[in-house]
Amino acid sequence: MRILLFLLLIFLLYQLWRFSELRAKMIRKKTVKTQPKIEAHPMVQCQRCETFVPKNESIDYKGRAFCGEKCRDESRP
Ligand SMILES: [Zn+2]
Repeated sequence: MRILLFLLLIFLLYQLWRFSELRAKMIRKKTVKTQPKIEAHPMVQCQRCETFVPKNESIDYKGRAFCGEKCRDESRP
């Protein structure tokens, strides 16, 4: 009878280990998924209308970021 209890304990420990492995995998997947998103879309604020636009869509003029050509032209002296 003691052997049965011992086997049950091993089985439970194995299940617990499998569950924690699965959770670790899921967390790893999540971090891999979210990281490129942050890198791909850094937001910058337009110096004129203060709208946030993705950096790759913004226009740089003398080190200042603008949401479009209109804002850039309007802020020029
Ligand atoms: Zn703007």
